[in-house]
Amino acid sequence: MISFGPIPSRRLGKSLGINNIPAQKICSYSCIYCQVGITKKYSLVREEFFDPMVIYKEVKAHLEKLNEEDLPDYLTFVANGEPTLDIHLGEAIKKLKTLNIPIAVITNASMLCNKQVRDEISFADLVSVKIDSVEEESWKAVNLPISDIDFHDLLTGLLKFSREYSGKLISETMLVQGVNDASDILHKTSEFVSQVNPAIAYISIPTRPPAISTVSASSEDKINEAYQIFSGKNLKVELLLGFEGTNMGHTGNAIADILNICTVHPIREDTMLELLKKDNARIAVLDSLIYDQLIKKVTFDSNTFYLRRFHV
Ligand code: SF4
Repeated sequence: MISFGPIPSRRLGKSLGINNIPAQKICSYSCIYCQVGITKKYSLVREEFFDPMVIYKEVKAHLEKLNEEDLPDYLTFVANGEPTLDIHLGEAIKKLKTLNIPIAVITNASMLCNKQVRDEISFADLVSVKIDSVEEESWKAVNLPISDIDFHDLLTGLLKFSREYSGKLISETMLVQGVNDASDILHKTSEFVSQVNPAIAYISIPTRPPAISTVSASSEDKINEAYQIFSGKNLKVELLLGFEGTNMGHTGNAIADILNICTVHPIREDTMLELLKKDNARIAVLDSLIYDQLIKKVTFDSNTFYLRRFHV
């Protein structure tokens, strides 16, 4: 299944996720905090995944199954990897726009040096760009990028996009303790973010199980320091430090809902129980998905989460 949710999002309200990358994760980064695990296939080459008409039909059918109160605020490309690696992304966005729901794209920005990619995501109403660090060593340490990315080209592409784009641009900076939260790095990153000039510069910390188990969120002191430094650059800054709520959309098919959401978004236990209740499903559904090795249970920061498993 390509679409999932809607899931609650502080940035986007109710967001119906679109996973335009099939099966295994494909990304140009392997961020140490990534909630969908280590990158199985590194790539910077755009390729064909789903036919845009297939995406359109699936999203339309998904929307038709939702109750009025679950209808999303955004249709969001938030993939099992980097959504701009989809060569048909622009066409898919254009088709989905006919559904009259705003479109969002969450990107790591690594492809923005490509004019075609910039042009295609310009069709979206909102674009969120990842800017974890603009100091090369810590960028490498936090995002573990594919070796072919030229760091200077990446930053230039981001700036070009920010000047060309007329929709709502937001940025997200994820702080990882001891990796990208030193004062000098925060100063450099905030200076660059101010040139990008997003409507809101979000500062976040890992709140779901990370790809590398030793990853920890920055301390409260560091988060506050980052907030002050970013605000000092005349940015509108918001912190994303917590849980985004249990109100997941449901289609009536608990197994499909769980598997689709888990592929790109670990589900916290209280959210899972709420989802089962809405889908009129028993807890035994979870046990059978775990038994069949389709999902697994992990603990992070004293909370239990369910994640998708892939046999690849
Ligand atoms: S967080 Fe996003 S950019 Fe980073 S590895 Fe995961 S999918 Fe790729």
